[in-house]
Amino acid sequence: MSAETATASDNIHRFRNNGTAIKDGNQAWNAALEGGLIDIRVDYDANGRLRRLDGHRFVNLCSCSYLGLASHPAILEGAIDALRSQGAMDLPITRIRLRLNLLEEFEDELTKLMGARTVCAVTCSSATAGVLPLVASGHMTEDGRPRVMVFDKFAHFSMNLIKPICADETEVLTARHNDLNFLEDVCKKKERVAYVCDGVYSTGGSAPIKELLTLQDRYGLYLFIDDSHSLSLWGEHGQGYARSQMAEVNPLTTIVASLGKGWGTSGGIIMLGAPQFEAVLARFGGPLAWSQGLNVPSIGASMASLKLHRTPELGRLQRSLRDNILLFDELVTTPERGDGFPLKVIRVGEAEDAVRASAGILERGFYTSAVFFPIVKKGEAGLRIMLRADLTPDDIRAFAAAVHEFVPHRK
Ligand SMILES: *Cc1c(COP(=O)(O)O)cnc(C)c1O
Repeated sequence: MSAETATASDNIHRFRNNGTAIKDGNQAWNAALEGGLIDIRVDYDANGRLRRLDGHRFVNLCSCSYLGLASHPAILEGAIDALRSQGAMDLPITRIRLRLNLLEEFEDELTKLMGARTVCAVTCSSATAGVLPLVASGHMTEDGRPRVMVFDKFAHFSMNLIKPICADETEVLTARHNDLNFLEDVCKKKERVAYVCDGVYSTGGSAPIKELLTLQDRYGLYLFIDDSHSLSLWGEHGQGYARSQMAEVNPLTTIVASLGKGWGTSGGIIMLGAPQFEAVLARFGGPLAWSQGLNVPSIGASMASLKLHRTPELGRLQRSLRDNILLFDELVTTPERGDGFPLKVIRVGEAEDAVRASAGILERGFYTSAVFFPIVKKGEAGLRIMLRADLTPDDIRAFAAAVHEFVPHRK
């Protein structure tokens, strides 16, 4: 047996294990399938409702289009106008070689809006896949040396997926959720550290941005923050939860976010605290170099959304969202009550009970996603919902009544 084979067999399953993930996860997915909660085929219907094949109409309470922008007329027009003006779906060649003026203009406008050099990717996930390995190897920092990568345990799938790649470049650690003591200890012991986290978490809660900035000041901690769930929702022009708490984006910070949520279009963005690394990212950032870029209708739609982010309409939509969150919090108890975020998880307990409740509530006209292990811990299954600006108070009241009917202990 060669030395290489011995090392390989010792080193497997350090950061992922499909065998256990699928064995544990599939039981609950199968229960959800039997409950009619996944693989549902729908069409868009009037008033933003969805229509199932059998004609049942319902409100999707799991849409990440928090401000309702995905169906905003100006944004749809933006996509159509861009298609008409370019007469093509795409410029299918790597952006390093050729890129549309349309994209360049959009990135310039984004850069102004965000107050940091901002570039695009086809999705936030591909942005993360491009950036994280370069942070790990030290190619996004002036010293050019690898950093110990500390991932928050609750970091989104799109970051966790890249752990083994980072581990091929440097040491990778996992911190308990928001465990600043652990992080500070690592900073004291290791010279160069990077922390990988969500700004606002997809299962509720947020990162302690102010405290992280303090650690950055004190130890030169690199911050990689995925703020997909708060882009457009926070900040005067929708810069997001993390960015709006920073006076400027430090050279030791990169923020990524999806345009497919609050922004209402599709794509991913990368705010670079150190714009001098844009070229290395474009050339060596994996899918950023060799996968598709934003297509023409996405750029057009995203530019229209950006223009809307500069108008008072954004503030109005943010306020409607806040009002809807407050109303929901009055009516239904969740651990997230009062935190100001649109993500709520109505705790149920066991996966089967969550599936049963979700199925009942769907028949009352509201789609919730039953979440269970491995998305949340075992025994903490629940119904995840996302509140939106374009829900009416009546929608929210009717939903709360359905929750009380099917999850009776939640008062
Ligand atoms: C939804 C989500 C993503 C995925 O965004 P895409 O642009 O679809 O890749 C990435 N990170 C977080 C935190 C998310 O919530």
